[in-house]
Amino acid sequence: MLDPLVYLDNNATTRLADEALEAMLPFLRDQFGNAGSAHVLGRISEGAVVAAREQVAELLGCAPAELVFTSGGTEGINHAFRGAFEAFPAKRHFVTTAVEHSAVLAMADWLRRNGAEVTVLGVDGQGRLDLAELEASLRPDTALVSVMAANNETGVLFPLEEVAGLVKARGILFHVDGTQALGKVPVDLARLGADLFNFSGHKFHAPKGTGGLYLRRGLRLKPFMIGGGQERGRRGGTENVPGLVGLGAAADLARTHLSRTGAVRALRDRLEAFLLSSIPGTRVNGAGAPRVPNTTMASFEGVEGEAVLLRLSEAGICVSTGSACTTGQKEASHVLRAMAVPAACALGSVRFSMSRYTTEADVAKVEACLPAILEDLRTQGAVARRR
Ligand code: PLP
Repeated sequence: MLDPLVYLDNNATTRLADEALEAMLPFLRDQFGNAGSAHVLGRISEGAVVAAREQVAELLGCAPAELVFTSGGTEGINHAFRGAFEAFPAKRHFVTTAVEHSAVLAMADWLRRNGAEVTVLGVDGQGRLDLAELEASLRPDTALVSVMAANNETGVLFPLEEVAGLVKARGILFHVDGTQALGKVPVDLARLGADLFNFSGHKFHAPKGTGGLYLRRGLRLKPFMIGGGQERGRRGGTENVPGLVGLGAAADLARTHLSRTGAVRALRDRLEAFLLSSIPGTRVNGAGAPRVPNTTMASFEGVEGEAVLLRLSEAGICVSTGSACTTGQKEASHVLRAMAVPAACALGSVRFSMSRYTTEADVAKVEACLPAILEDLRTQGAVARRR
């Protein structure tokens, strides 16, 4: 029998939880009513959407009415930025950071093309934000400050409560891209003081194409999607009932598992200790900062991350790299560049991201395969350089 795949790319996406799939199945078969229909099938679907909203709101620590369901993280980010841009025509300054996901950075470009000014804050070598720099960037015409809760590449957590304190004291809108944090660390929006918080279901074992945007009570932004009156007129379009049922079930599971993230952290720490002690020329990016418990972004000097990824993939291990191919040129990721990781290391970066389904056997397989792969790639590299 073939060995099962070892999946360590959970920051890209996660497997659907069995319980979420089971909950969805009736809504993919017999309970197919439109949640807007007045008949019995419609009422069943409507009830399922109401229940899902309550389950997700519980995970977020907000009121169900503060939650708009979306197709995922990108949609929520689009809505937050465009909504703030339209709501405050006299405020044309925005603040974000250099290590945001491309969905936020693309919205920053959109703002600039539409005449706004965007301040992009840097980070230190561990991926940490400088709060004094953030405070100094705030102006009377700042409409929105947008920071991520957890970085998708390094797992580094930003100090959201401190940022909220600075931003809210000046009457500025505060948006958090919570995509990589929800389900990994506790989130309590009632306490946090953010105005907008987006997330994506497929990052915590819900189906793809589900997610949401929290809008603090009383915040009125223009509807992102104009259509029927769904989502209280804030996002038109027939609800994805099976998807939302799966999202609700996954939110319940995530809430239960939040008290048990110690097991994932222990596996992650074991892997990091192994990499640092067994593979020379290894660094773990962001290890000096608070991080989510499941992520290791390791850099291996003198190899290409892409080559390591392909060799691990051949061995049945799925990971991701910290580099991108831009116009045919290998380039370190914008996150590692912002952290000033030397190029020779950054190009050899590999991200291992675990989940509650990750086992000791998975980590043992990486430990068994990786040293030989790196030794081989480094030898090949040395031979190629001598030619
Ligand atoms: N923000 C962060 C930090 C992410 O990691 C991602 C996805 O990787 C997104 C936003 C976009 O989410 P989605 O692909 O679900 O739209």
